[in-house]
Amino acid sequence: MSEILVLVEQVEGEVKKVTLELLTLARSLGTPAAVWAGPGITSEAKARLAEYGADKIYVAPSSDIVEYVVAPKAELLAQLVADKSPAAVLVAATPEGKEIAGRLAIKTDSGVITDAVGLGEGFVADQSIFGGGINVQSKVSKGTPIVAVRPNSTAPEPSAGAGAEEEVSVTLSDAAKAARIVERVKQEKGARPELTEAAIVVSGGRGVGSAENFSIIEQLADSLGAAVGASRAATDAGWYPHQFQVGQTGKTVSPQLYIAAGISGAIQHRAGMQTAKTIVAINKDPEAPIFELADYGVVGDLNQVVPQLTEEVNKRK
Ligand code: FAD
Repeated sequence: MSEILVLVEQVEGEVKKVTLELLTLARSLGTPAAVWAGPGITSEAKARLAEYGADKIYVAPSSDIVEYVVAPKAELLAQLVADKSPAAVLVAATPEGKEIAGRLAIKTDSGVITDAVGLGEGFVADQSIFGGGINVQSKVSKGTPIVAVRPNSTAPEPSAGAGAEEEVSVTLSDAAKAARIVERVKQEKGARPELTEAAIVVSGGRGVGSAENFSIIEQLADSLGAAVGASRAATDAGWYPHQFQVGQTGKTVSPQLYIAAGISGAIQHRAGMQTAKTIVAINKDPEAPIFELADYGVVGDLNQVVPQLTEEVNKRK
């Protein structure tokens, strides 16, 4: 079976869940080969990639790859496409992943599909377009299919691969070294789960009313062991940090349970959460569009409903 390259997403050597999802997807279509861009691969990371089906692990240990912004990863993948002739290349549809996919498509004269939410026989992708309003089926008709797949579109399932390591050296062009990373600021991890990987997300919108009042959203989240999210109205108002924004221009989440409090349900917000398994909406307006999407709806003032819910959850622990 032909090789399918999967670009590994990692934080400080820890393989991110989306990579395990991509390996699972790649397994259904060919032989997955993970691509580790940069130094610092650990034996745990190698074991994890093999556990989820990576037959090969291409490691490009040059520190240049991570010192410059995005372009080196596209050049590394372009070199692998030329050398290994893979059947397809999968990357995560994160802001960085999508930029890599676009650059790689230009370099390899190939077609690219972004925001895929599924990938089937013949690399036909289910693609979420117009901010998640419409799903279409798309296929690359030129070159090597390059597909950016949204996190949380596939359930990761282990199935061991050989995990054979092969070192790759890449010569970067001067153009790839045009934008250098000058500083990295560590995001405080905190006690809550990472938003895009959380099984439960509690999000607040403009209806929360103030930054201080987001504490009731946090308390409900903590009672459930959930991550906190926010609508753009709430992040733009400065009530909650931008990295927690859910939606078209924020993060895409696909948890088992999504609780939307004081969020109207604009299409751009839905784009980031509509694939959640169960959606609960709390809104004082019975006509709010979020209720069209919700599995359970509570019409009421979130200042009363949310603390009561938190109390009830805590009582049952
Ligand atoms: P509103 O639409 O103002 O809704 C507030 C809701 O709270 C209302 O339904 C109201 O009934 C309810 N409410 C008020 N008080 C209470 C109370 N006490 N108790 C219960 N309910 C109450 N938005 C995103 O979220 N994410 C994105 O990534 C995003 N990207 C965008 C990209 C573009 C290009 C554009 C144009 C817009 C984008 N938006 C995005 C903005 C989006 O269109 C909406 O404006 C935004 O989602 C609205 O946020 P909201 O639902 O919190 O606010």
